[in-house]
Amino acid sequence: MNVSDSEKIVSLLQGAGYLPTQDSSQADLIILNTCSVRAKAEQKVYGCLGRYKGLKNRNRRLILGVGGCVAQQEGERLLEKVPYLDIVFGTHNLHMLPELVRAAERGERRTEVAFLDNEKRLDLFPAAAAEGGVSRFVTIMQGCDNFCSYCIVPHVRGREISRSSAEIVNEIRKMVDKGVREVTLVGQNVNSYGLKSSGEPDFAALLRRVADIPGIERIRFTTSHPKDISAPLIDCFAELPKLCSHIHLPAQAGSDAVLARMNRGYTRSEYLGKIALLKAVRPDIQITGDIIVGFPGESEEDFSQTLSLMEEVRYGDLFSFVYSVRPETKAAEFPDDISQQEKQERLDRLLALQRALTLERNKSFVGSRQQVLVEGFSKRGDQLSGRTSGNRVVNFAGDPTLTGSIVEVTITRAFQNSLFGEIIIF
Ligand code: SF4
Repeated sequence: MNVSDSEKIVSLLQGAGYLPTQDSSQADLIILNTCSVRAKAEQKVYGCLGRYKGLKNRNRRLILGVGGCVAQQEGERLLEKVPYLDIVFGTHNLHMLPELVRAAERGERRTEVAFLDNEKRLDLFPAAAAEGGVSRFVTIMQGCDNFCSYCIVPHVRGREISRSSAEIVNEIRKMVDKGVREVTLVGQNVNSYGLKSSGEPDFAALLRRVADIPGIERIRFTTSHPKDISAPLIDCFAELPKLCSHIHLPAQAGSDAVLARMNRGYTRSEYLGKIALLKAVRPDIQITGDIIVGFPGESEEDFSQTLSLMEEVRYGDLFSFVYSVRPETKAAEFPDDISQQEKQERLDRLLALQRALTLERNKSFVGSRQQVLVEGFSKRGDQLSGRTSGNRVVNFAGDPTLTGSIVEVTITRAFQNSLFGEIIIF
């Protein structure tokens, strides 16, 4: 969601006459788009702002702004804490950025963090500049009503709101005209898209509408809440070839006791049941997930159940974090009773297991043929790079004009974070 919002910020600033630079010492305007989902991400914001103080001293014209979840959480306090900061804008106020920049150019310091309840607010967001990419994010909803006990998102992104399906389809059609072949539909909980808006389709029906758009070859989505994986959504995996063989399905923990304290709304066996249903209709589906380590009250037995869940699911990738207390959340009332050392040891064990599972998964592709959407040059710059339907990165030698095409690649080698192959046909 933040990557998608950052693309929109770039688009808005270009509209306001600013050009991008890779060199912060050359910048007349720096916007930090922030995340507050973990304490560490929030601390990073203050670290960055500290580093930019020197730039501000050297360039009096430099405008500094903070947007996103930390801005939403802190509001006016951020201007008080950081006296050289010019702009603070919240998660619902991104569209106001050009106006705030103009005010800062006149020397005004402003904060805008008011929540907008109107669902039209998502259409106030500009489309991202869709130049030069075959794969784009499309925001379909924002906010969350789930209130998982550890999570700050409902407090900083607000209540769940779905964007109109007509606007979504329109935006994707325009992207297709500019060469986009793959879209990722994004929202805090995409599975509940449309459920609270009269007249809008549900998420499964939206997927079918997007699949009907000529020129779109692949559809992905993130993030899904396991409790909201519905039968119609599972049918989409059975019936829509454009829907990629990948789902990011955060479990957060493998123990029922911890899941209940997290207020996740499902049990371990219900989570595994959803995965079994998905695998039944799409046997090659790749599962990735999120795990929180060291949630208050997590015993060694609870943690071993998380490890056994990972072995059962055999995640292709996992985002795992040490629990940190977030303001305004229910879990902030729970005693944070696991030492930092214990949390870190558990995280290390979990990461070691996941590394082994990822490598094992990657090796299982060696010898197989994969359809790869070519995204451009690899990080090394001397090979092409793309992704399989299951979201594995594949690098291979090939002609750069293939960018934007789906090619068939035989996988010849597997590494920890990518695959290597040889192109067959295109
Ligand atoms: S579903 Fe839970 S973890 Fe995800 S954004 Fe909503 S409250 Fe946070």
